[in-house]
Amino acid sequence: MDAFAALREGVRQLCQRFPASYWRDCDRDRAYPEAFLSAMTEAGYLAALIPERYGGVGLGVMEASVILEEVNRSGGNAAQCHAQMYTMGTLLRHGSEEQKQRWLPDIAAGRLRLQAFGVTEPGAGSDTTHLETTAVWDGDHYRVTGQKIFISRVQHSDYLLLLARTTPIDQVTRRSDGLSVFMVDLREALQDGLFVQPIETMMNHETNALFFDGVSVPRENLIGEEGQGFSYILDGMNAERILIAGECLGDGYFFIDRATAYARERVVFNRPIGQNQGIQFPLARAYAHLRAADLMRTQAAERFDQGEPSGEEANLAKLLASEASWEAANAAIQTHGGYGFAVDYDIERKFRETRLFQVAPVSTNLILAYIGEHVLDLPRSY
Ligand SMILES: Cc1cc2nc3c(=O)[nH]c(=O)nc-3n(C[C@H](O)[C@H](O)[C@H](O)COP(=O)(O)OP(=O)(O)OC[C@H]3O[C@@H](n4cnc5c(N)ncnc54)[C@H](O)[C@@H]3O)c2cc1C
Repeated sequence: MDAFAALREGVRQLCQRFPASYWRDCDRDRAYPEAFLSAMTEAGYLAALIPERYGGVGLGVMEASVILEEVNRSGGNAAQCHAQMYTMGTLLRHGSEEQKQRWLPDIAAGRLRLQAFGVTEPGAGSDTTHLETTAVWDGDHYRVTGQKIFISRVQHSDYLLLLARTTPIDQVTRRSDGLSVFMVDLREALQDGLFVQPIETMMNHETNALFFDGVSVPRENLIGEEGQGFSYILDGMNAERILIAGECLGDGYFFIDRATAYARERVVFNRPIGQNQGIQFPLARAYAHLRAADLMRTQAAERFDQGEPSGEEANLAKLLASEASWEAANAAIQTHGGYGFAVDYDIERKFRETRLFQVAPVSTNLILAYIGEHVLDLPRSY
């Protein structure tokens, strides 16, 4: 008995209103799925993790991960949903009561979008503590100067959660000190020195290079304590990994659903192709890996929601789920033969989309490095 059957059913019903043709059109036109996002917001799913006292639904990361899974399993793409879910966690855990009252009810109601998260920089890459964007206090405001890359959904968000250096790296004891988190009002910043340059990618994913030229950010938009921002971002990483694992699982099950249906129906050499072990076994193997990753996702989410340490499980879940979804994608495209490459079958689109998860939001090597260092107690490799 699936404890989340009703939740899954609700998301599935909503997703049925956005069939494959909707996602195909968005993909072809590189369009933001506005109608889908509005429906998800109205149904309360995007406010799943916001507590009820701020107008949200007050669910756990487990439920949120299931919501994203169902979106991806339906053939859709939850990339626009997940960011709001995990980005607002920083505000929720580290913002002042005044800040939470100021933003969370509007986010929950869909009046404000907090869907952009600005960490990655061209110079630093995965080495976040070496980021070079600075926020310097000028006696009145912080002034943000620097460059970010691959910052998604900026053109469709009202706020960006920004990580910037407030104390130079040579003046801190640990390089993770001296970084701070800000809520940047994008509507104001665009009039005040923020330049956005879109980056085209292989799938429909609005992402951008950002150039900050002395953008002013008021003190009341600093989240938590100045200089502690890196630990706030790290705090949110486990939730992010569990949510992303949910999306990977959804993709993986989508591929298995579609490929098994196709393999039962497609007849070549007078028999369904699914009768051939060469078609059957890769699907069975990918399914086994998906189920195992699913268990790890559940364990990670349960630990997270009970307030227990979940770093190991969250990292394992993200690693296993992203690899299982990619394995299922490969098996599905092979099962479909030439049709796997035809846009109308949706396999090629989902194939492109699911590949991202081994690179972003965090790459597989960095997850392995976490497991090596923090779980297996091996010397730090980077
Ligand atoms: C479509 C898309 C959307 C994104 N959206 C956002 C966003 O909204 N906000 C945001 O902040 N970022 C975003 N990112 C950035 C993403 O998080 C980074 O691309 C990712 O963290 C990797 O950083 P990098 O691209 O600089 O790769 P690099 O750090 O240059 O790494 C390149 C490769 O080298 C490997 N590598 C590097 N160092 C080591 C090491 N010590 N040991 C082993 N392997 C290593 C990496 O694992 C990777 O495979 C997005 C990226 C993409 C592609």
